[in-house]
Amino acid sequence: MPIDPNFRSYRGRLAPSPTGLLHLGHARTFWVAARRAAEQGGQLIFRNEDLDSQRCRPEFVQAMLEDLRSLGIEWGEGPDCGGPVGPYTQSERRGHYLEAWKKLRDRGMIYPCACSRKDVAQAAGAPNELDDEPVYPGTCRTAVSEAARLRLRGTAEAAVSTCSEPWAGPGGVNWRFCVPDGEEICFTDLHLGPQRFVAGRDFGDFIVWRRDDVPAYQLAVIVDDAAMGITEVVRGADLLKSTARQILLFRALELAVPDYYHCDLVRDAAGVRLAKRHDALSIRKLRDLGWTADQVRAGEISVG
Ligand code: GLU
Repeated sequence: MPIDPNFRSYRGRLAPSPTGLLHLGHARTFWVAARRAAEQGGQLIFRNEDLDSQRCRPEFVQAMLEDLRSLGIEWGEGPDCGGPVGPYTQSERRGHYLEAWKKLRDRGMIYPCACSRKDVAQAAGAPNELDDEPVYPGTCRTAVSEAARLRLRGTAEAAVSTCSEPWAGPGGVNWRFCVPDGEEICFTDLHLGPQRFVAGRDFGDFIVWRRDDVPAYQLAVIVDDAAMGITEVVRGADLLKSTARQILLFRALELAVPDYYHCDLVRDAAGVRLAKRHDALSIRKLRDLGWTADQVRAGEISVG
């Protein structure tokens, strides 16, 4: 059943990656997501973001489902229960991403890039404040991408399609989205208030498809949020800058931009943002230690 874009009943999502055990930070963010969906009588969708085959493991998929359920978080659509806009596992959605890649290619908004492998690894997972994708210096930008930048700005001279690249498929080379340098991307976060990022300064031409033929996080996430009719994205504040990138992609593909609610990050006793390597603060471990669901959902750190 396709989602009617005019019927904006609340649809939220939980979109963890099975790269490790979920921790206290996830518990708090996902609990906020669940509460907001419930308050608005909306639907919550569980999406398994397992595109990075090097880091994702099936046992963590099972653990994510169990751990979130143990906190009383419930969803109405997901890999375990199906739903109208499945599949809900990213590795099974390649066709959707490919379609978006083709549109961007035909519109001359992305370009093939032969630069270093280091960038590729960084584009594989969702970036965060510590290991965000570096600003790309623009080495592989071409006349095609120059036209796309103008088109993004709505300039008349860019109305003529300039795409003449023979690429039939994305594999074998990185593909970067050509950002409109100097343009301010502004949005009002429902929790953190007004946000402003400058394309080309705060982030550069980012990877949308990796050389090893895997769609990058930025592309996959917007394709899925749109296809699944997501009206509000609740996630950690480490992804604020990615939201600016994603707004550009939504715009480029003429898709509706959802609302955003970025949660404060949970930090450990030393002030370091929690990551999946913080096993001691995993939902599972805390449950074994006798923490109640309430304590875990509150996301308060009382262990170091
Ligand atoms: N799958 C991403 C992660 O686990 C989050 C994606 C998102 O919420 O947009 O970091």
